[in-house]
Amino acid sequence: MKAIQRLEKMWEQNRRYTTRYMLVVGGSMFIHAVLAVIFAMAGRLGFVALNGLAIGFYCFWVWLFTRRAVDEWMLLALYLDVVLHACIYNVFLGQGTAFYLYPFIIIPVTFFLSTRDIKKSYTLAVSVALSVLSVLLMLITLSIQPIDPFQDSGLTQQFFHVNVLLCALLLCVYTSEFMTETLSTQQSLSFHAENDALTGLRNRYGFTKEVEKLHGTQYCVAMCDIDDFKRINDAYGHSVGDAVLSKVGRALLTSTRREDAVCRWGGEEFLMVLRCDLEAAQATVERIRRKLAVTTVEANGASVSATMTFGLADCLEAESFDDLVRIADGNLLRGKRSGKNCLVLSADGGKESADSQTPETALDIAFLNNPIFSAFSATSDTTYIYMCNLENNVSRWSRTAVEYFGLPGEYMFDAGNIWMGFIHPDDRAAYAKDLDAVLTGKKHFHDITYRARNRDGEYVNLSCKGVVTEGDATHPAVFAGTITNLGLSETTGGKQR
Ligand code: GH3
Ligand code: MG
Ligand code: MG
Repeated sequence: MKAIQRLEKMWEQNRRYTTRYMLVVGGSMFIHAVLAVIFAMAGRLGFVALNGLAIGFYCFWVWLFTRRAVDEWMLLALYLDVVLHACIYNVFLGQGTAFYLYPFIIIPVTFFLSTRDIKKSYTLAVSVALSVLSVLLMLITLSIQPIDPFQDSGLTQQFFHVNVLLCALLLCVYTSEFMTETLSTQQSLSFHAENDALTGLRNRYGFTKEVEKLHGTQYCVAMCDIDDFKRINDAYGHSVGDAVLSKVGRALLTSTRREDAVCRWGGEEFLMVLRCDLEAAQATVERIRRKLAVTTVEANGASVSATMTFGLADCLEAESFDDLVRIADGNLLRGKRSGKNCLVLSADGGKESADSQTPETALDIAFLNNPIFSAFSATSDTTYIYMCNLENNVSRWSRTAVEYFGLPGEYMFDAGNIWMGFIHPDDRAAYAKDLDAVLTGKKHFHDITYRARNRDGEYVNLSCKGVVTEGDATHPAVFAGTITNLGLSETTGGKQR
């Protein structure tokens, strides 16, 4: 009973390996049982005992197998059993009963069992040697005059039919099992070759299949890269980094449609193919970017958030998919340079995101270009002022802030999101929530303390205040305030002094 329980456990742990051996053992026991019955009917009690002995031997073998001590000896045991039996029946009953067929089934079974240890070349050599030896033994034993053949030729013929049928049956079972196993190995190998184990997304190789389907369709390519991912790894460890990668991958997949495609391009970079025009792709990517910036990942007791930078390119911009990826990658690089956590389109796409443009030349800064701002912004090195025209989303920040944090420029488009890339990942959700409350009229003052990264990569504590100075709760027009630098943070993953 214990052996059966152990066998069940083995089957749970390694279904394929256990099935393979049990099929061979089960098949052999079945043949011996059938032979025992028909030998009993033919009155050959000696042979009945011989088959009974073989069944006993296989039971013992199963018991040994569950102790993992014998699988290497399986082949030898099988050969001994089949060849010995075939030789004995050849010698006693002659070739008319067709017992010589059994060793021929053993040949494919031998290779079937050896595949597990194929790297041990001696297993293969032993299999070939045993196969040749068994065929020779068959020839020798068949050349001898049978000692005690059936007197009744009808009985000989019955044995012939039974043996041919049993051999054909076993051959079918073993061949189909071998084929099933080979096919499932192939499927598993190609799955792992095409998919990324961590995120479950297609990998770069697997993605080539998606690319083939794109021919002649309208699509855009977005190259996406997690911002400051190395910092996340350094601060929280690789397992948390892996959890972030996994969550980001899932978020990208669930935020796109079935006809779109997402792949892990490598490291912390993802590639999305969006089957739509540039305008719709821009809206989708922008939605994803905003969603990711306020998403947190809980792993190993840490709560981490990450932002992403996206480079987008329209299929009309390039002749080949590879060129398009290069363009999207170039746009991503520009996004990284202009402060991260943004979406950048090609300059010649006509609809370029202002993040990537030279602020003074491309932004509508007329409203913000006033002398009072300039006068106040120069009054302190540790208190910075900012002002945002919410109607065109163009902001102006103190020169001192631009220099201290390494912001893209004094005038910025979508500065709120650019700034998000500088805020400590743990503080981003609180920042976004407080800002949203003020801009939607739920709260009067933006007043929050958080950590942000300066241009040296150090985190500083900041007290940020702000208020809607023009417009009302439903249509805020101008948002302005101050950020006071309270000094280096002692509790962040950034560099400390
Ligand atoms: P940037 O904002 O400029 O993209 O900076 P970054 O730190 O994200 O980029 P960088 O290329 O310097 O670092 C990428 C890091 O991603 C380095 C590598 O150790 C890490 N990484 C790549 N693959 C994996 C992974 O499978 N798991 C984890 N945990 N980290 C990975
Ligand atoms: Mg990165
Ligand atoms: Mg990268």
